Amino acid sequence: MSTADLAVVGLGVMGANLARNFHSRGLTVAVYNRNPAVADAFHAEHGDPRLIDCRSYEALAAALKPPRIVVLMVTAGRAVDAVIDELRPRLEPGDVIIDGGNSHWPDTERRHELLAPTGLRFVGMGVSGGEEGALRGPSMMPGGDRESWERLRPLLESAAAVSDGGPCVTWCGHRSAGHAVKMIHNGIEYGDMQLIAETWSLLRNGLGLGPSRLREVFAGWNGGRLGSFLIEITAEIVAAADPQGSAKGTTPLVDAILDVAGQKGTGRWTAIDAIEAGVPLGTITAAVDARALSARLDDRRRAAEIFAEPPAPLAGVSEDDLEAALYAAKLMSYTQGFDLLRTASRERGYETDLAEVARIWKAGCIIRARFLDRVHAAYRRDPSLPLLCLDPGFADELRAALPAWRRVVAAATAAGHPVPALSASLAWFDTMRQARGSAALIQAQRDYFGAHTYRRVDAPDEIVHTEWSELQQLP
Ligand code: NDP
Repeated sequence: MSTADLAVVGLGVMGANLARNFHSRGLTVAVYNRNPAVADAFHAEHGDPRLIDCRSYEALAAALKPPRIVVLMVTAGRAVDAVIDELRPRLEPGDVIIDGGNSHWPDTERRHELLAPTGLRFVGMGVSGGEEGALRGPSMMPGGDRESWERLRPLLESAAAVSDGGPCVTWCGHRSAGHAVKMIHNGIEYGDMQLIAETWSLLRNGLGLGPSRLREVFAGWNGGRLGSFLIEITAEIVAAADPQGSAKGTTPLVDAILDVAGQKGTGRWTAIDAIEAGVPLGTITAAVDARALSARLDDRRRAAEIFAEPPAPLAGVSEDDLEAALYAAKLMSYTQGFDLLRTASRERGYETDLAEVARIWKAGCIIRARFLDRVHAAYRRDPSLPLLCLDPGFADELRAALPAWRRVVAAATAAGHPVPALSASLAWFDTMRQARGSAALIQAQRDYFGAHTYRRVDAPDEIVHTEWSELQQLP
């Protein structure tokens, strides 16, 4: 009998928890996993008549009430294509396939094209919040046609995280918009994490703070404008004792962790996308580079021997200065991320509502933060705001934070502490706020060696080429 409200394919970390989440909202969920042993373990632990155990794609299609809704939570890439190939002949026009994995948006575009002639509807949906979020309520970022969204809306809203702004799910835009929004969410996450890591390192190695004071500082910041999930967990992490090793229980666990940051690729995709779209994304790109540099452990050890000079204490910088620098740099990172999203929406016709995106990131996802309320309000006030940092409220805060931000970057650089994201953010800001910068010299060089032409300030519509070597030199 066809009784299931929706199906979940893939009972890995995310799929199993998302299926249980839908089930906990009173829905009947058909579930399937390629490896039957994983399905056995799932049903042994969570077995219930409203979790329908399907051992084939035929059984899955038969268990679903038409028009069917199938959520894929499988490894991004070829697995998504393989499952779609299996489902296609077993579904009917009007049925909806949701890809809830971290698919790259160009793949989602391709799958839309592939499925459009079949009458099957395709929704690329970013899901954030990790294992716990999938179970208790993630932030969900679906894209696709509006009609599918209206149909999915009650189901997705019932399972999403809820903030004071409502359920953390919205229509993100046409076709691949959902996966583009998720990709940029992850890029921003890279920026946030790198900025926090740099600030932690300055507090500790520059100001000499010990674990308990570090915890107090981050916990204090979490109560203010930096309040966020990532600051909250950092407060716990910095003072957590190592449960193992020779100094068991007396040293921070974070000191026992190899200094190499992993990455699965969504930050890199964001940086590549920005370069291709011509959107300057300094903070997030610096964060991706910093992870890549961290992975060069052998080279770093060698360089540390050759250039052995430990960073000096930070001079003339307070804890409050670091808070201001972190906040200002974070604002740059979000400014850049939202700029990329605005550009993608314009170029690919997504029609993404930036205020709504800020709203659905307020709970459930990794970058959830108090500050997103203000981002939401800024885009509600002015949906065509070209850059987030130009919102009058944020501009005032930036002006106030600027002296401290400069002090931090200058002192860190002078003392030899690497601050790639804090300084890239400041460089982005300083470049952006100059109505006239250094590009004129680049244009002159291009025209000199390649006759690439330039435009004059006093006649901007004219295209000019100059034989530079024939010009008289000023005294
Ligand atoms: P897991 O590795 O835990 O699970 C992967 C699932 O994909 C398994 O059920 C696996 O089945 C299935 N699978 C792989 N290849 C195929 C195939 N060819 N045909 C059918 N099924 C296949 O991954 P996660 O649950 O962590 O991630 C799932 C998706 O969600 C990914 O896109 C991931 O990037 C994304 N995501 C993950 C988050 C996380 O915190 N883990 C957060 C947000 C998104 P089998 O058991 O048979 O191998």
